[in-house]
Amino acid sequence: MELLKDRIRRDGRVLGKDILKVDRFLNHQMDVSFISELGREFFRRFKDCGVNKILTIEASGIGIACLTATFFDVPVVFAKKNRTANLPDDMWMSRADSFTQGRTYDILVSREFLHPSDRVLLIDDFLANGHALSALIDLVAQAGGTVVGAGIVIEKTYQPGGTRIRERGVRVESLAQIQYMNEEQGVVFCPSDSAL
Ligand code: 5GP
Repeated sequence: MELLKDRIRRDGRVLGKDILKVDRFLNHQMDVSFISELGREFFRRFKDCGVNKILTIEASGIGIACLTATFFDVPVVFAKKNRTANLPDDMWMSRADSFTQGRTYDILVSREFLHPSDRVLLIDDFLANGHALSALIDLVAQAGGTVVGAGIVIEKTYQPGGTRIRERGVRVESLAQIQYMNEEQGVVFCPSDSAL
């Protein structure tokens, strides 16, 4: 998506080889009308999939998921991150390693909000090693629901998450795909990344 790539070139900051900071427009300060355009694009790609719920993970996925949900007119559920390993009876629980914080956390969703009849679109800001997305997929599976796909704003294709999740048979749509990045060259996008 050219709009997004331009914005990353302009406002993104690369830390080392692995972290892209997008806190000027996406996950700290939020450019709401811009993020709404990302939501419109997710809608264009998934509108025929019978989505009746959007699932994301706190905190940075929530805003993107909410603006996407305005196009689908469906509720957003966000998984909560928890340090403790107690499983309350009324929650679905999975576990994920945090890419940015270097620790493992539990993620939880109330059983009240995920059901076998749900056709769920997963939304997140980044796809790196795929742990966050994988944990969300597990939650939907526990509830007996169906994952129709995952909408990712930025996929770093040199990290294994995209391959891992697609190998599980999940459709992953990323609005920008990074081939590699470093502080000298900045962000280099995949040549195959569709020019929308
Ligand atoms: P994964 O679970 O795929 O390894 O990592 C995805 C999660 O880690 C995302 O929810 C996102 O919050 C965070 N993350 C991964 N890579 C980056 C990055 O380059 N920049 C930022 N800001 N967050 C990232």
